Amino acid sequence: MTTGENSSRACEVCSGLSDSEYAYSKFGWPEHDTFLPDAAQNLVIVKDLRPLGSRKLQLRQCPACGAWFLYRTDYEYLTNGTEDEEFLTRLTEEEAAEYRNKPE
Ligand SMILES: [Zn+2]
Repeated sequence: MTTGENSSRACEVCSGLSDSEYAYSKFGWPEHDTFLPDAAQNLVIVKDLRPLGSRKLQLRQCPACGAWFLYRTDYEYLTNGTEDEEFLTRLTEEEAAEYRNKPE
């Protein structure tokens, strides 16, 4: 009876993403690397909040169900190899609107 309602949880693009995803890689230590799920690559970049920064901050949206995500990266220079981190966080409609309204 409720077919078609609340289907976002079963979205074919982003249902594999949890509310918060994290990946870590260290230069020269590929065996320790972790990666974001493939679905993260299928999200559409709606707004690049730091187009010139070396640390990324992007508002992304699922092309299938319209769910919002915040993607950001961070890194740290260490003498034995740079550490890179990626974060992907699911946003509520309200949180996403805040980022959309931010001036460039
Ligand atoms: Zn989706």
